[in-house]
Amino acid sequence: MVAAILGRCPNCREGQAVRGLSRVVASCPVCGVRFERDPGSWLGAAVIAYAIGVLAVAVVGTLLVARRGLFVGLEWWLVATAVVSVLLVYRPVKGWWLWVMWAAGWIHRDREDPEAGSR
Ligand SMILES: [Zn+2]
Repeated sequence: MVAAILGRCPNCREGQAVRGLSRVVASCPVCGVRFERDPGSWLGAAVIAYAIGVLAVAVVGTLLVARRGLFVGLEWWLVATAVVSVLLVYRPVKGWWLWVMWAAGWIHRDREDPEAGSR
């Protein structure tokens, strides 16, 4: 789980799969497994990060309204909560989603093509 959250390759657990805020490299620099097979591969990670952001806004909004009632500027607290929570969780969620895709068999080593050298 720690390796997933740190963005390590699920195949070898050594290569760094996620770099920067959320960029996934095309293939593992250590074992060579290719990560992105389809353009929509990361939709699940975006949905999970969005759901966590919505949950954070609901919790912070509930706490603020319970403590201070409706007040001017509440909307900015909620916007800031949404932006900060999504920025904080998107990278670990993407690393975790990469492992989910690997466990489901969507990320795997390409078969060696014996014809590849002769083209
Ligand atoms: Zn690897």
